[in-house]
Amino acid sequence: MDNDIERVLYSVQDIQEACKRLGTQMAEEYKDKNPLIVGVLKGAALFMTDVIRQMDISAELDFIDVSSYHGGTESSGEVKLEHDLSIDVAGRDIIIVEDIIDSGRSLKFMLDLLKERHVNSIKVCTLLDKPSGRVVEAKADYVGFIVPNEFVVGYGLDYRNQYRNLPYVGVLKPAIYENK
Ligand code: 5GP
Ligand code: MG
Ligand code: MG
Repeated sequence: MDNDIERVLYSVQDIQEACKRLGTQMAEEYKDKNPLIVGVLKGAALFMTDVIRQMDISAELDFIDVSSYHGGTESSGEVKLEHDLSIDVAGRDIIIVEDIIDSGRSLKFMLDLLKERHVNSIKVCTLLDKPSGRVVEAKADYVGFIVPNEFVVGYGLDYRNQYRNLPYVGVLKPAIYENK
């Protein structure tokens, strides 16, 4: 897998430091709120488990799965709910944990969905933010890194469902897409 990576953007240590910084900040802000922390499958699975370990407060976890990408490196524009939450969110303080915000469509879809369910508050924590990709307005409250306009993989992020288990975030060699 390492052989397919052209360059590493965020190392294991960079990611660890970001999890610590964001987790500590959220723990401080949510210490008396018992937040419901919602991880977005599958991309945010690794980030979710690392960042919550930095939050020494009472909290609950749940997962949601939405899809907008259909296998390639370009978003299709259409967002679908693949798997809903299992916990009632009415009156709760929600933190959505995302891998990356690109066009903003997935995040907007989830915010619209959850707001209809009468939550008390919603904030968004994302490992990566790619502001150059925005098509709709969407803003994260806690951001690990601002990424350049490139397709990245690793640490949860996939290309055709591969590379999620890389421990760092990197850019694929162009030959990987060109051969497909
Ligand atoms: P958005 O709806 O903001 O365009 O994109 C949301 C989803 O698209 C992300 O959660 C992620 O799954 C996927 N995505 C966006 N940019 C990238 C990228 O650079 N690399 C990978 N692997 N996935 C991306
Ligand atoms: Mg995602
Ligand atoms: Mg994907």
